[in-house]
Amino acid sequence: MLKRSKLATRRLQKLRPVAVGKGFDILLVSQPENCRYLSGFTGSSGWLLISDEQAVLATDFRYIEQARQEAPDFEIIQIRGGLPDWLPELAYNSGWHKLGFEANHISFASYNQFSQVAESKRLNLELTPTTSLVEGLRCIKEAGELELIMKAVELTDTAFERAKLMIHPGVTEKEAAWEIEKCLRQSGSDEIPFDVIVASGPNSALPHAKPTERKISQNEPVLIDMGARIGGYCSDFSRTLCLGEPDRTLSEIYRVVLEAQLTATEEIRSGMTANQADQLARSIIERAGYGEAFGHGLGHGVGLEVHESPRLAQNSSDLLADGMVFTIEPGIYLPGLGGVRIEDMVVLEKGKPKALTQSEKAMEVIT
Ligand code: ZN
Repeated sequence: MLKRSKLATRRLQKLRPVAVGKGFDILLVSQPENCRYLSGFTGSSGWLLISDEQAVLATDFRYIEQARQEAPDFEIIQIRGGLPDWLPELAYNSGWHKLGFEANHISFASYNQFSQVAESKRLNLELTPTTSLVEGLRCIKEAGELELIMKAVELTDTAFERAKLMIHPGVTEKEAAWEIEKCLRQSGSDEIPFDVIVASGPNSALPHAKPTERKISQNEPVLIDMGARIGGYCSDFSRTLCLGEPDRTLSEIYRVVLEAQLTATEEIRSGMTANQADQLARSIIERAGYGEAFGHGLGHGVGLEVHESPRLAQNSSDLLADGMVFTIEPGIYLPGLGGVRIEDMVVLEKGKPKALTQSEKAMEVIT
């Protein structure tokens, strides 16, 4: 992996023309993963201020030393309180007039407070909302990022092997989820990116079920969804196991979901819109008569966040490009009966998806 400061320089070089192109004197970056991506700073409270010449990291007393260590390319300044307490004076002293901010990551309250202070102090400051400036860079992964993602993917593959040995009738969903979480952490995952899902029988029809005290029993599906995190980078993985012999409906929906998953993996291409990619899988599920039962998008980008750009869904105009890492995870959910989801991670390379997840996808029957 490149040295931190080289990374920061290179990423700033990519961002600056975008910010300058929008006419900003300064871009305020507040989304934590964006801050981390640009500066290396991993603290939970900090702001980046980026202009053509400046790169400032503003944080409070608790994080000053950490900021100096993690973000050597940034000028570190110590702040107190919220935005309205420190930014107006800094903007005035620096002579900034046009400030871009991340619209999805500033609360309505702090925007209001800040603009009132700016007005009352006659700062002549224009506040302009931006979206996806840094996210647009983040969605194309560099080699070092891909390496970390692959390590995180390996951990979910390993934990799934363990899960298959441990899941049997009588084990509760909560017990199984905890075993999986332990396995992920013991194998080297940092804090896992989301709570492990183990959903059995009818619970598997809830796409984001929470593990319960329900005992897993014979002849039913068990949907498992888990992720690991290494060096800040996440993985995301789902499989549906069957305990004992699957009934007809379960076999049928498994076959359809698998076909949708394989077809999308086979046919997605760089240059497609994310909506077209979604349609590759959706059309198979619709043709089989289960369109209504596939109520979520086909997938999502994965990186520093477990859900990030691109968004593969019916109404998404994101354009797929080489270097993007995302999930392909069609599902069918039949209330009262159960559900099936198969989720792999891929990277787009030379125009096509390359599988990162290695676990078997065919239905595994645990006897
Ligand atoms: Zn996912």
